[in-house]
Amino acid sequence: MSLPKRIIIVGGGIVGLAAAYQMGRRFPSARLTLLEKEAATGRHQSTHNSGVLHAGLYYKPGSAKARLAVAGLQQMIAFCDENGIPHEICGKLVVATDDSELARLHELHRRGEANGLSGLRLLRREEMLEIEPHVGGLAALRVPQEGIVDYAAVCAALERKVSARGDKIVTRARARRMRLRNHTWLVETAAGEFEGDFLVTCAGLFSDRVARSAGADSGVRIVPFRGEYYAIRPDRRHLVHNLIYPVPDPSFPFLGVHFTRLIHGGIEAGPNAVLALAREGYRKTDFALRDVLDALTFPGLWRFLGKHPRMCWSEQRRSFSKRLFCEALQRLVPEIQPGDLSAGGAGVRAQAMSPDGELVQDFHLLNREQALHVINAPSPAATASLAIGDVIAAAVDGGAC
Ligand SMILES: Cc1cc2nc3c(=O)[nH]c(=O)nc-3n(C[C@H](O)[C@H](O)[C@H](O)COP(=O)(O)OP(=O)(O)OC[C@H]3O[C@@H](n4cnc5c(N)ncnc54)[C@H](O)[C@@H]3O)c2cc1C
Repeated sequence: MSLPKRIIIVGGGIVGLAAAYQMGRRFPSARLTLLEKEAATGRHQSTHNSGVLHAGLYYKPGSAKARLAVAGLQQMIAFCDENGIPHEICGKLVVATDDSELARLHELHRRGEANGLSGLRLLRREEMLEIEPHVGGLAALRVPQEGIVDYAAVCAALERKVSARGDKIVTRARARRMRLRNHTWLVETAAGEFEGDFLVTCAGLFSDRVARSAGADSGVRIVPFRGEYYAIRPDRRHLVHNLIYPVPDPSFPFLGVHFTRLIHGGIEAGPNAVLALAREGYRKTDFALRDVLDALTFPGLWRFLGKHPRMCWSEQRRSFSKRLFCEALQRLVPEIQPGDLSAGGAGVRAQAMSPDGELVQDFHLLNREQALHVINAPSPAATASLAIGDVIAAAVDGGAC
């Protein structure tokens, strides 16, 4: 197929925006139209997250996550520098709090080195206290390349770049039905019908449904996991200098509740990971019948719950108990007390799950005729977004995906 002249992108989160930006650079003569269902871009995961620049420590060597986090971090830092976007490479500590976590900490160190991270350092307790004087635990891994950033500002800068090229960003344009007729895509939206030669979908929490509406079913289902945060009281913020993370449970794709310094000031603790009753349900009480039915009729969810009953139950209990939440945090910073925490925001992770109840760990893109669907782009996809955008542009160009 010749290079597409008109490209339609569905979804204006950081991945859709970065894809539009990278395609605009790669195909100067193409005309792009980005369709976003909300009144503005970047309203969901891309601005409801921890604001961390991940360096690629955790991911299986050779996986797309490992490759694209490492490459994407460098691209993101350069993009922030060029566009005056607030960011800071402050480094992070991953803390082992008992003997069982020490072996996993060493394994993370090996993984990080295999993924090409430099400057990683295993620290004894005295050494970690020099960096974070209030931290608990036995030993830590210092990851100097990690940092914090304003992802809302990244989305805004990407949007400006895309618009400055003359490409269209259409908001309040929920894509409903997408058909390929005579080599032309027809996308019906709430804001009218759009035509294109190539379709890219990056619909985050609706990635599976949007891809299915375009005739592409990969068999996986998006299961929404809400992540709730607490804010640390101003007079207790001195307990955390930068980023303090636990050693993650390898059977679970989320990193465990951690402490994050925010780029515009303040410290947050979280996020936990509870099943959400609505794909865009930021409050505990949010409920969407279609989303619940979708989840309950998916055999993968039942298999997942059967495999991880304890973890799911304890996350659920912790969501309703500040004391339990605080106990998890005290493993990292023993001095933190429930009274130091006030309710913060929340985000909902779009996590793809297979019918056998496994969480899809890696980024997952689906190639179809004149179309590419981003099905799974969980953390660290904000960090890696520019590199994911490059992969999408290369795939549209006919290159490897
Ligand atoms: C709690 C939490 C913490 C995280 N922390 C980090 C972190 O610290 N660092 C990091 O790198 N990553 C982090 N992530 C992951 C990161 O935020 C996501 O991987 C990334 O934002 C995904 O971007 P996206 O564009 O795919 O999705 P989204 O930002 O969700 O964008 C998808 C867009 O598609 C639109 N859309 C959906 N359906 C339609 C339709 N039918 N028509 C038109 N538009 C549609 C939506 O409105 C939305 O704007 C975190 C995520 C969460 C939830």
